[in-house]
Amino acid sequence: MKFATKAIHAGQEPDTATGAIMTPIYQTSTYVQAAPGKHKGFEYSRTHNPTRKALENNIAAIEDGKFGLCFGSGMAAEDAVIKLLNPGDEVISTNDLYGGTYRMFTKIFAKYGIKFHFTPMTDVDNVKTLINDRTRMIWVETPTNPMLNIIDIEAVASLAKKKNIWVVVDNTFASPYLQQPLNLGAHIVVHSATKYLGGHSDVVMGALVCKDPALAEKLYFIQNSCGAIPSPHDCFLVLRGIKTLHVRMDRHCENAEKVANYLLTHPEVAKVNWPGLEQHSNHKVARKQMRHFGGMVSFTLKENKTERAVALLSKLKVFSLAESLGGVESLCGHPATMTHASIPKEEREKTGVVDSLIRLSVGIEDAGDLIGDLKQALA
Ligand SMILES: *Cc1c(COP(=O)(O)O)cnc(C)c1O
Repeated sequence: MKFATKAIHAGQEPDTATGAIMTPIYQTSTYVQAAPGKHKGFEYSRTHNPTRKALENNIAAIEDGKFGLCFGSGMAAEDAVIKLLNPGDEVISTNDLYGGTYRMFTKIFAKYGIKFHFTPMTDVDNVKTLINDRTRMIWVETPTNPMLNIIDIEAVASLAKKKNIWVVVDNTFASPYLQQPLNLGAHIVVHSATKYLGGHSDVVMGALVCKDPALAEKLYFIQNSCGAIPSPHDCFLVLRGIKTLHVRMDRHCENAEKVANYLLTHPEVAKVNWPGLEQHSNHKVARKQMRHFGGMVSFTLKENKTERAVALLSKLKVFSLAESLGGVESLCGHPATMTHASIPKEEREKTGVVDSLIRLSVGIEDAGDLIGDLKQALA
């Protein structure tokens, strides 16, 4: 089955009790047993829930994986992944990664004796030099936030081959429609389903997908033991969101391309970051591993000042100023004072997060209206 068919049907059968075509919200904590241990596969909803099961199977299918697991947030999903490790284990992570992930690694798990190395993975040789016999995991995020850098997943995964190292890819920005890391050699895919999978800015959720049954068993054990599961109602909402993922992503990408090309021509704009642009430093890698280049665009202004960026943001009307991304509506943000405010200026500027950097989550509104909005705000 092709992607669009899987997105709509995988994991979902008509309800056996009523024939309902949509998976019901099984808002129940427990399930009646005919005799002790004699049940229909469901005993308690932390462990199994039919609505969650449908969503987990659906996400596994659209990632071309075998096993899916859903969590109460993207961070809860990531937390479960790190719990695969033991004290003394080492993780090599990209240095250009979601701020919450960096915070969890350094402020929570470092004190349990797990060592994290951060390195620019746009150059794969940086990973190679950090691998030693304690390396147990390589953590990739691509495209990255907010610079839209691209990491070569296949090249990174080839370094872990035949070694006892798990390659994890945070696929939130691309979505499984644009990029399927398991087919490029990754062992685990991580999602903040809050973003494109949910797609409507109304749910916070996380997901993991893998192919290896032994690895899946470890992750299910952590999910059930630690219990950071999502509600049946939220699972219903994300199942519904995924049914239009491919259609939404096509439009997100189309609109982002138009917005990026418009910004390129504007005399006030200094630099535009979008992996689909020929001049993007890793455009070739993006072309190799992605179907299209995504809905996220960032750009800097010639007048590189916070006040100038903030003034522009306050003039935008169709783009709403907010954290998060991946919903049908367009959002804008100022990383230096919002998502990356906790990073010292010197550090953030090294990765390109300068004072005038603006991040756009390009929605699926009319492209002309989006460009018109940017035009009036830049004027
Ligand atoms: C939002 C986000 C997360 C965290 O997900 P939550 O659902 O907010 O917990 C992780 N990685 C990336 C790339 C994100 O954008």
